[in-house]
Amino acid sequence: MLEYQAKALFAEAGLPVPRGELAEDPQAARRIAESLGGRVVVKAQVPIGGRGKAGGIAVVETPDDAEREAARILGLEIRGYPVRRLLVEEAADIQDEYYLGITMDRSRQAPVLILSAAGGVDIEEVAEQTPERVAKVWLDPAIGLRPFHIRQAAYQAGIPNEALRPITQIAAALYRLMKEHDAILAEINPCARLADGRIAALDGKMEIDENAVFRQEKLASWKEDEDAEHPLEVEAKKRGLAYVKLDGEVGIIGNGAGLVMTTLDMIQRQGGRPANFLDIGGGAQSDVVRSALEIVLSDPGVRSALINVFGGITRCDEVAKGLLAVLSEMDVKIPLVVRLAGTRAEEGRALLEGSRLTAAETFTEAAEKAVAAAREGSRS
Ligand code: GDP
Ligand code: MN
Repeated sequence: MLEYQAKALFAEAGLPVPRGELAEDPQAARRIAESLGGRVVVKAQVPIGGRGKAGGIAVVETPDDAEREAARILGLEIRGYPVRRLLVEEAADIQDEYYLGITMDRSRQAPVLILSAAGGVDIEEVAEQTPERVAKVWLDPAIGLRPFHIRQAAYQAGIPNEALRPITQIAAALYRLMKEHDAILAEINPCARLADGRIAALDGKMEIDENAVFRQEKLASWKEDEDAEHPLEVEAKKRGLAYVKLDGEVGIIGNGAGLVMTTLDMIQRQGGRPANFLDIGGGAQSDVVRSALEIVLSDPGVRSALINVFGGITRCDEVAKGLLAVLSEMDVKIPLVVRLAGTRAEEGRALLEGSRLTAAETFTEAAEKAVAAAREGSRS
């Protein structure tokens, strides 16, 4: 779901969102800026965060500037997502930026309310370096979100008293909205305190539980819209590959959905972030291996890749031959780690010796090497 869609839901739920409209070209951005009269913010609509840091958000003073910035932002590709739509909103006069979110904590099997007085684009660093500034209050779904939960979180988070009432109303409405739409995440960052004291949702994000999409008609079409958004996923679908774009640096190719899922977990456990899910299935021929490598390597976020193959019917020496053939024709600039296990794994590894592929024997070793290579890659 994109920001403007989340904000449409916010508005229906009575949450305070700035006035604004969607633009698909610079002229439309200018017209919206004119009709809003005065300062506006031009915002890239892509299904990921960090747009501000990527240059996808601009606060401008005049319709001329709105048009110019719109043209610039429409030419951007933010972490693989070309910008096709812009949200043009009246700009807010921000005093403070809070973070307000509700999500599912799987390990506690409960929703959790997350609140911080140090919201904005650096919330991740705040959470990592000063976790005490990010308050978390776990909820019982049978009881729901009550004002005392919000007071407790606000007190821990250091939210000033005068903001408590509006924040309480916003959090309560957000919780209702989540329940109504089967969301697993609803987030407002920044939830801003404006110069005139009002609180407004300046950014919005919602994630719907995929298992509930069938009963959320409007959201189902938004979901399809979003799926069609990433060019690599579209290309992979054409090639018949089971590929899902993720947000990290380590590209993953494996045979079998279970093995690939486990590989994502292993990368995470080693402190890395997977860049994608890609299952090439059983008995993968070298043309499938090539096609998979091409997709993974076209992701500009990828710094290393891990090819994790368990040979059953698939023979590891065949996979190794396939990989070598592909590499002799492709110019690969990032480190590739290969783990072969099962049928004819030793023969496969022997074939890879002396090539520019890094062979790994165990799963852990492979994940470690891929994560280390990605770190090296992002430093150089
Ligand atoms: P994100 O980077 O993808 O999370 O995009 P946001 O919508 O959160 O915008 C990033 C940052 O841009 C915010 O934290 C604000 O600091 C700034 N910003 C967004 N909207 C406005 C606005 O209306 N006025 C001003 N002055 N700054 C804004
Ligand atoms: Mn944001």
